[in-house]
Amino acid sequence: MKYLDEFQNPELARRLLGEIRATVTRPWALMEVCGGQTHTIIRHGIDQLLPEEVELIHGPGCPVCVTPLAVIDQALEIAARPEVIFCSFGDMLRVPGTDRDLFRVRGEGGDVRVVYSPLDALKIAQQNPHREVVFFGIGFETTAPPNAMTVYQARKLGIRNFSMLVSHVRVPPAIEAIMTSSSCRVQGFLAAGHVCSVMGTDEYPALADRFRVPIVVTGFEPLDILEGIRRTVRQLERGEHTVDNAYPRAVRPDGNPAARAMLADVFEVTDRSWRGIGTIPASGWRLSDRYRDHDAEHRFSVGGITTREPAACRSGEVLQGLIKPHECQAFGTTCTPRTPLGATMVSSEGACAAYYLYRRLGSTPTPLEATPVV
Ligand code: SF4
Repeated sequence: MKYLDEFQNPELARRLLGEIRATVTRPWALMEVCGGQTHTIIRHGIDQLLPEEVELIHGPGCPVCVTPLAVIDQALEIAARPEVIFCSFGDMLRVPGTDRDLFRVRGEGGDVRVVYSPLDALKIAQQNPHREVVFFGIGFETTAPPNAMTVYQARKLGIRNFSMLVSHVRVPPAIEAIMTSSSCRVQGFLAAGHVCSVMGTDEYPALADRFRVPIVVTGFEPLDILEGIRRTVRQLERGEHTVDNAYPRAVRPDGNPAARAMLADVFEVTDRSWRGIGTIPASGWRLSDRYRDHDAEHRFSVGGITTREPAACRSGEVLQGLIKPHECQAFGTTCTPRTPLGATMVSSEGACAAYYLYRRLGSTPTPLEATPVV
């Protein structure tokens, strides 16, 4: 199939691997930022095929995983109210809050609905003028534009019973936080191609310069990942640190100007707490004052929330690339996709879920053909 099979071509993959092997002369640690890239890497065993000098560290780019516990608990409290129809993408329903999840709230009588677009939630608001309809707007720069457009439409159409619980996060401040951490081992980044397809690459040269790290914009298919690694390793071996676009079929330097204009109109930059990591300055978006009437956090007073993470969960260390998922004692025992303790085991983009799904159950490499277990 065009655009899929052609980026999984085994012969081209072998050729790229050969070029990486021929280039590398010493150990390098690269971080793939996005959870979608992590899944491709683990699913296709790319990390096992690389020369042992090249280590891939899995980054925090899983939107479900980094949504802070306090926001999950806010969502649970709002969703339990009788006047509310709470709308969310399906992957948020099983994310554990302090003492329950959205599935549980639904089981206890809450009107929690899975939608496939924020515009579906807006339609529900139009159809139910006497109910409060809240959409759970989370994610990176990729999901932010449609969410911004939905709030814009709600305001334009005067749909007053629609609001959004916003917890958007931005990639560049996370890269800065990773690089300034005392435990950082990252020497090069595979930047998330879909984020750059919206935002462009303007924000990355300053980071590459300041931290002297190559940043290679990378796609999501196996050949995209291998090409991103090849270009990053080549820069490292040459002592270079530039921004390089290895995903030009989707990314232009200025991204998507219409989407960026919508984001600038509806959102404003704010400090944001990342689950398991902590607060990163200027790393998020919230609704700007003009759209405050549609901000669920303001509409529903949900203060006084006390959060409590499970003591056994080490997802913060997983998200910072400090440990691999199978190094957590709960992995595959008390924590599985059916009984997740942390968000990194719930989300389809979470590193713990990827390791479990593709049977990376220990440090010993497993066969590439391993059968998924869920
Ligand atoms: S395996 Fe489970 S408990 Fe361990 S870090 Fe991952 S999500 Fe948390």
